[in-house]
Amino acid sequence: MEEKIRRELESIFGTERLYFLPEDVLPYGIDASRLEGFPGYVVFAEKAEEVVELFKLANSYGLPVYPRGAGSGMVGGAVPVERGVVLSLERMNRIISIDEKNMICEVEPGIVTGELQKQVASIGLFYPPDPSSLSFSTIGGNVATGAGGPRAVKYGVTRDYVMGIEAVAPSEGIIRTGSKAIKSVVGYDLTRLLVGSEGTLAVFTRILLRLLPAPDPPWAMLVAFPDANSAVNCVCSVLRAGLTPSAAEYMDRDILNAVAQYSDFCFAANVGSLLLFEVDDSMRFRKFIVDAIRQISIDHGAIEVQLATDEDEIEKLWNIRRSISPSLSRIRRGKINEDVAVPRQSIPELVSRVKEISKKFSIPIPVFGHAGDGNLHVNIMYDPADDGERKRAGQAVEELFYEVLRMGGTISGEHGVGIAKSPFITKELGPSVMELMWRIKLAFDPHNILNPGKMFIPNRAFLNVKKP
Ligand SMILES: Cc1cc2nc3c(=O)[nH]c(=O)nc-3n(C[C@H](O)[C@H](O)[C@H](O)COP(=O)(O)OP(=O)(O)OC[C@H]3O[C@@H](n4cnc5c(N)ncnc54)[C@H](O)[C@@H]3O)c2cc1C
Repeated sequence: MEEKIRRELESIFGTERLYFLPEDVLPYGIDASRLEGFPGYVVFAEKAEEVVELFKLANSYGLPVYPRGAGSGMVGGAVPVERGVVLSLERMNRIISIDEKNMICEVEPGIVTGELQKQVASIGLFYPPDPSSLSFSTIGGNVATGAGGPRAVKYGVTRDYVMGIEAVAPSEGIIRTGSKAIKSVVGYDLTRLLVGSEGTLAVFTRILLRLLPAPDPPWAMLVAFPDANSAVNCVCSVLRAGLTPSAAEYMDRDILNAVAQYSDFCFAANVGSLLLFEVDDSMRFRKFIVDAIRQISIDHGAIEVQLATDEDEIEKLWNIRRSISPSLSRIRRGKINEDVAVPRQSIPELVSRVKEISKKFSIPIPVFGHAGDGNLHVNIMYDPADDGERKRAGQAVEELFYEVLRMGGTISGEHGVGIAKSPFITKELGPSVMELMWRIKLAFDPHNILNPGKMFIPNRAFLNVKKP
């Protein structure tokens, strides 16, 4: 059987675009979550028709197919949980067209997000979604996870820029959703359904994206507060005043301690938290907006306000934010980075609950994130060699999710469910919604060959898959 499958894969992808030797397939068994799987084969698609052929084969053998962009996902979404075929889209990386007048572009899924941004910027256009992984993650992966980043506070997330998708569904072959029209209300909004579907419904082969005119180069403003509450209330007041920072990033004192310990930055003892604002409004109004944010910050008890207007100074301020991840990895080797989101006004409550959880389970939990969206990165640190600490980290995650849901929030604002969060998804959505989602899944993928083992918990009563 193995030999037969290999020959059939070879007839679709040729020998050069089919890997099966352990040393070749191994790197495709993991993603940034560090979860590991078993890629039997890796294939590199170059066109939608090859994906159609792959699904015919997969449906007839019941062979799992795992779509993969750059493998930078944080929840194991691209990890092959059973021996099957990893379908890499990395070679479908062309910009098919840029329609400057309508400010729309059509791309293949494997284009790296930062590369697309550079290309459209060269003609004065702007693709705003900015996951921190933009220098290596792909548009296909971003669309499949609904990725967001610091600019979401002003510009929204990937979902807000996807106008249409060409995709291959295991049940349907090639489908096209959406249109180039800005307004389009015909039929169910399948584009929105596909965005964030984490490679469980269909494989994207072309994506139609909305662009904006490029804004003026941004300025940055770092504001120090005595505590968490003042910082978060300040963000709420800034947004309530109708001001539009293009980022409003929060860092708590534990984060600052970690950064100070492992970099050249240092922070005065009375600083309880920092906010990093970015402002990219037109230069004509820029000064007015910056002054207004400064004043609101002072009204909320800001200890210090630092404005950066030239490129080097701006870089320096953003480097504080960028040095968080490397600094944290030196506190403990193990890190569970939860990307929970709550209504913005609940951030102070979340931050104080996190500190209680940290104390209760005796593990460090520094917090930073996108305060403007209520989306925080809660970093549960543990030593993987210490069984007790590892167990307590798991308990801390459960308690965190309980608190977040109690506040009306969500267990993931950015990274998605994948494998890592599948045990918790029913707690957020409830069994009826899960059943409905499963029926939708089966309409696209009746044999459950597409990215099985993700989102849905195996062996649930409703997982009633048709045998091929
Ligand atoms: C250092 C670092 C920083 C990060 N920062 C952010 C951040 O700021 N914001 C954020 O949202 N995320 C962030 N992430 C997570 C990750 O980069 C995103 O989830 C990203 O969107 C994944 O893209 P990818 O190309 O790597 O996809 P992969 O990891 O390869 O896949 C992710 C999911 O998409 C599916 N998929 C991929 N391509 C397709 C396709 N063509 N069709 C259908 N399904 C597909 C896969 O099956 C999988 O379920 C970060 C990760 C790292 C390592």
